[in-house]
Amino acid sequence: MIGVGDMVLLEPLSEDSFLENLKKRFDHNEIYTYIGSVVISVNPYRSLPIYTPEKVEEYRNRNFYELSPHIYALADEAYRSLRDQDKDQCILITGESGAGKTEASKLVMSYVAAVCGKGQEVNKVKEQLLQSNPVLEAFGNAKTVRNDNSSRFGKYMDIEFDFKGDPLGGVISNYLLEKSRVVKQPRGERNFHVFYQLLSGASDETLKKLKLDRDVSKYNYLCLDSASVSGVDDAANFRTVRNAMQIVGFMEDEVQSVLQLVAAVLKLGNIEFKPESRSNGLDESRVKDKNDLKEMCELLGIEQSVLERAFSYRTVEAKSEKVSTTLNVAQAQAKTRHKVMGVLDIYGFEIFEDNSFEQFIINYCNEKLQQIFIELTLREEQEEYIREGIEWTNIEYFNNAVICDLMENNQNGILAMLDEECLRPGTVTDETFLDKLNTICAEHQHFESRLSKNSKFLTDHSLPHNCFRIQHYAGKVLYRVEGFVDKNNDLLYRDLSQAMYKANHNLIKQLFPEGSPAKINLKRPPTAGFQFKASVGTLMRNLQTKNPNYIRCIKPNDKKASHIFTESLVCHQVRYLGLMENVRVRRAGYAFRQAYEACLERYKMLCKKTWPHWKGPARQGVEVLMADLKVPPEEYSYGRSKIFIRNPRTLFFLEERRRQC
Ligand code: ADP
Ligand code: MG
Repeated sequence: MIGVGDMVLLEPLSEDSFLENLKKRFDHNEIYTYIGSVVISVNPYRSLPIYTPEKVEEYRNRNFYELSPHIYALADEAYRSLRDQDKDQCILITGESGAGKTEASKLVMSYVAAVCGKGQEVNKVKEQLLQSNPVLEAFGNAKTVRNDNSSRFGKYMDIEFDFKGDPLGGVISNYLLEKSRVVKQPRGERNFHVFYQLLSGASDETLKKLKLDRDVSKYNYLCLDSASVSGVDDAANFRTVRNAMQIVGFMEDEVQSVLQLVAAVLKLGNIEFKPESRSNGLDESRVKDKNDLKEMCELLGIEQSVLERAFSYRTVEAKSEKVSTTLNVAQAQAKTRHKVMGVLDIYGFEIFEDNSFEQFIINYCNEKLQQIFIELTLREEQEEYIREGIEWTNIEYFNNAVICDLMENNQNGILAMLDEECLRPGTVTDETFLDKLNTICAEHQHFESRLSKNSKFLTDHSLPHNCFRIQHYAGKVLYRVEGFVDKNNDLLYRDLSQAMYKANHNLIKQLFPEGSPAKINLKRPPTAGFQFKASVGTLMRNLQTKNPNYIRCIKPNDKKASHIFTESLVCHQVRYLGLMENVRVRRAGYAFRQAYEACLERYKMLCKKTWPHWKGPARQGVEVLMADLKVPPEEYSYGRSKIFIRNPRTLFFLEERRRQC
């Protein structure tokens, strides 16, 4: 074993020793390390020979601690408790952009696909589950500065299994797709993959039908300076995606509809407007060159005059944020309960120089996940103690509930105040919102006084005038208030949705249900913040019913390079992922626990009475062993099926003795 495979056993435990251990293991290609049952994964940025079918076999049906740390061990454990103990599982994957979350989710899925049942029907379902990835990635991933294949949305997938543990299908929910990327990308980044894939991979005939030119530079929405990404074959990926869409279950005409939509978006981007003076002295916007508009309307079956009108008039309406895709492959039998494994691949904490509404929302989600983590880890710990008949000792830990409350409280949480401000008549600006925050958050007893150490809403005079600061569990974050009101309103002019709804194109119609004349509703639609809070709430309730498995991904450097471990960068992530806290919670009670059989098997060589064969029950053998080795009784407890060892030192002692044997 290179370094220490389980951070719980690290001695002495400090941030330095933690980082040193991680680095040492990384340098020896050991990218996985445990904190108890949590898997830390450090992105190697190159393909390692550790995902072969032989590896799958190696980890299959083995106990978690038997082999060196691996994501397969976690996947195996989760799958087996789902199949054999009928416990729904969720796999929570967090980490910053480029840390390896999406790859990890794919590894888990492919492992489960490899070990679960076989047979024609099952294999078809597996294919569908696996092939959902290329489809989602084409439409939701893009090249960014941080990651060439960055997911611009959060993804949660529930995979359903039957009583035998064979997959039946899945339900995918997406969170907070970065819609603005369609229109504008930061320097050095690209739009969503699908645009480039379509232009370089589609046949001449298809492009002609879609009225498209193969030349990327013809489209305003496609950034010119980074149209191609090294090592990425857009044309080949287009074929993969087309194929995947078919496997997932899109009919040919549905694929065509989707491609028409993609083409229409490119056309839309080329439409330019010019001001036209009206008799009333005001300018009205007019479409400059009508050819793109005409082609776009043809693609979507929209009457040109209708859309043109919609471009010049405005009434307010909003579009729903959450997209939900159902892979409707489950042969739903209403009576039988399905076992479920949920896989969550979602953006981690974001602490940038410039943090806006998006970071606020993302960090809110992460606070909630941390809540769940605390709740579930402690609950699991507690349940195991009860199951094993071990006395429960209270664990001290930092509870971030007060931060969640500051953000989400229905009366005076920040999101509620933002909503209130957005709905208030009169002049509403980001500044009026900030004033309100400063007054209420700083005053309200709920968040303590501004002098109190416990306050998570930080005000001091050094703050820039347009900012507020929150003490997140992962660190202090300064939010710039500019854009909060607009982004939360997330308005789309009603005339546009109505124009879209009039299209003679089924997909477009479905995408703008609010444009239906039957649905004309003058009530204001929910804000982006409200919708996100609601979907996070649903997600949390879902996760709470499941047994959690954690994968914490870490990005070793900022260069997307292999072999480089930038300590300061990793240190930052270790802090905001709360990994030290995690180790402490784990060590606060019993650092280590092992089934009697496994424990006896490993250490029986240390005692004449148990070597080579112990005849009686394993527990008795372990008792004899511990007494013979003179391990102080306060260092361990006997549970029903396991021995619980309090201090890692005891384990080192045993391991040391083993080495000397
Ligand atoms: P995230 O989803 O956290 O933003 P990704 O999973 O997309 O990050 O990983 C970014 C890139 O890092 C991948 O495209 C891949 O090149 C590399 N990578 C991530 N995990 C692994 C791994 N386990 N083995 C090899 N390369 C990896
Ligand atoms: Mg990703």
